[in-house]
Amino acid sequence: MSEGQEGNSKPERVGYWNDRMKEKTSKKMMRKGLEKREQRQKVKAVVFDFDGTLAVLNIDFQLMRERFFDLLNLFGIEKELIKERYVLEMINEVYLILVARNPSQAKDFYHRAHQILQEVELHAASEGKLIPGIETTLKGLREKGIKVGIVTRNCGEAVLRVFPNLYDHCDLFISRDSVRRVKPHPDHLHSVMKGLHLSGEEALMVGDHPIDIQAGKKAGMKTVGVLTGRTKREEFERIGADYILRDATEINQVLEQ
Ligand SMILES: [Mg+2]
Repeated sequence: MSEGQEGNSKPERVGYWNDRMKEKTSKKMMRKGLEKREQRQKVKAVVFDFDGTLAVLNIDFQLMRERFFDLLNLFGIEKELIKERYVLEMINEVYLILVARNPSQAKDFYHRAHQILQEVELHAASEGKLIPGIETTLKGLREKGIKVGIVTRNCGEAVLRVFPNLYDHCDLFISRDSVRRVKPHPDHLHSVMKGLHLSGEEALMVGDHPIDIQAGKKAGMKTVGVLTGRTKREEFERIGADYILRDATEINQVLEQ
């Protein structure tokens, strides 16, 4: 799933290329965003979110939520009971409610809910595209000796459908399938840093959503917000992203040369 980009309102099409125009990413605006830089960073790794950061995917979160709530109905759970905001977390919350009633029912719910997520994600992945130039960017980082990590709340299968040669371009990929607690929980990033044998202070976290910034900060990383998702510059400024870039191909602007 796309990193909690779902919301309660009808999702709007990401429309990256349109946004590039609308965002008025003129050189003037770029300078404004980059004024936030304290200094260029000397890091040993850059960790990227996937959806909205390395690729454009239009996951239909409204459909996902509708199908999920239908499933809740089927299992006799009122949606008003649910405190979590995102489907991925809601599944875990509902599982815990159900497991107290009937463990086999809880298991069935969990399986069916994940099936819904995956179907919607795989459908979006079939039309997803990498951000133009991103493979060259990742290759360039690794040629400089900088490790590349990729983290996502999406399922691995959907990511690999969009980026089949992902493993040629990164040192470590951790989808939701291989971690117990996904971002914004910092464990997701701790797993990456552990796998790369580095500490959070030695890495940058790059993402298009506030949860990427929150998770990065919790893991002790410097953070970079990119404007290729739905989060606007002002929001990244408000939550204290260390850097704001138009897209992830500009990462070299924040790295020490
Ligand atoms: Mg994202």
